[in-house]
Amino acid sequence: MGKKIIGLSFPENNNTLGLEPSILNVLPPGDNVEYSRTNKRFNDAEVEKYLCSVYIAGVDEFKHWAMQQDTRKIIVGGYHPTMFPEAFLNFADKIVIGPCDDLEATLSQKNILFERSHYDGEKVGNAKYVSGRILRTIPHDGNVRIHGEIKSITENPSGEAEIIKDRILPGVLSFKNTPRYDLYDLRNNQQVIPDKKVDDLATSVNSSFGCPYRCDFCCTPVMFGPSIIAKPLDAFSREINVLKDRLDAADNVNSKNKFMFFRDENFPLLKDYRKRLEIANETGAKLYLFASADRITADVADAFSDNNVYMVCLGLEDPTKDYPKNKKLKDAVDRLKKNDIYTYLSFIVDPTKLVGVSNSKVEKGKEFYKLLYERFEELKPEMVCGNFLMPFPGTPLWDDYYWMVSEKDFNHYDSKTPFLIKNELVAAKMRYFMFEVQWRYYNSDMYNNEVRRFDVSDTLHLRFLELKSQFDNMLGLLHLRP
Ligand code: SF4
Repeated sequence: MGKKIIGLSFPENNNTLGLEPSILNVLPPGDNVEYSRTNKRFNDAEVEKYLCSVYIAGVDEFKHWAMQQDTRKIIVGGYHPTMFPEAFLNFADKIVIGPCDDLEATLSQKNILFERSHYDGEKVGNAKYVSGRILRTIPHDGNVRIHGEIKSITENPSGEAEIIKDRILPGVLSFKNTPRYDLYDLRNNQQVIPDKKVDDLATSVNSSFGCPYRCDFCCTPVMFGPSIIAKPLDAFSREINVLKDRLDAADNVNSKNKFMFFRDENFPLLKDYRKRLEIANETGAKLYLFASADRITADVADAFSDNNVYMVCLGLEDPTKDYPKNKKLKDAVDRLKKNDIYTYLSFIVDPTKLVGVSNSKVEKGKEFYKLLYERFEELKPEMVCGNFLMPFPGTPLWDDYYWMVSEKDFNHYDSKTPFLIKNELVAAKMRYFMFEVQWRYYNSDMYNNEVRRFDVSDTLHLRFLELKSQFDNMLGLLHLRP
């Protein structure tokens, strides 16, 4: 056995909430490969490479860790290295830009092309590296943005591949290898969802990457370009077989149900989505997935119902805005309800819009939550989930917010921290009010009589009891005004 290849995720993945880390997709075959849930210090002499996936909230943690290791052995990728590769040059030997699952092919690139390649040979990428800065096209208006500034695209005059600094490589998706699920114990996974008991098993799968929609807050088009990249069916099927085996092996007397989450951004966009559901249904797991409301046709709802889809996550997003994808949100929810499929509505709170008093002399926060609650009453989702706005560098929204975000805010990109608000008392109240609207909804007569019972000791109910006890300690703050 050769020296070790170690996969790591930043921030560290050692808590119990979450699903399989994405670095498993990149880890190569071999007995010398391992995944570490803790980002401890390793003995460099025993290690050939460290493969690190870094999310925006893990940048500081990664830099701190990397400074203790032999940085010539570190290869780093993920959203933040894609956006700011130059920030990693002192901490890693190679920086991978964009999505990647084939490290061997990525590292063997002799010429680095302007465009990333993927499994069927079409060019979908949009990353260029010019004069030490990464340029990325943002599809909503065709302009190029460099960390929020708009520049025009400079075409390579020769039209040929350009050799870029060898330490920065566009990633390659080939779907040749099955993700290394064997290196990870899926009993570490935990999800806060309706009907899942603590001991029930949960796993996840990616059938495609990217989304052609252009929601202004979303970093998916920045990472993947404007196209959707589907795994070939045989690769997907292989992966499902591995997951099925792992679910069966982890099964025990305490687990009654199995759950599987499709990580795809918008699953019904795939032409063969029905086939993929049929394959996934062979695991016996209850399936849940993301979709945009405009894709929930009667056929789609039927296919979901036929294949054990128990919940669909639809983005309500910011309830004060109109999104083209949500024009028929009510129809989509009704269709799912008709098929006994739960709806999970996520919503976004822009905390900067909740401070101050509106023209009608009502506090803006009150107006916002009144409107949001009315949407809950109208749509009656089985699950709701609030996220504070996190403006991502490179998205159209970034231009409006970049001046409010400093580097230390990156540590708080967890969607539960209103870091755009600098006053700590106001920020604490913002967190409370987001919790309160959900708690009130779940405990309402309407939810319990017309939607489903809340107090069933599933992970959703238990998590909200935990939050309730945390927020009870904050009640004294509510009447304070800075
Ligand atoms: S539909 Fe979803 S994944 Fe696609 S751009 Fe909008 S928020 Fe992002």
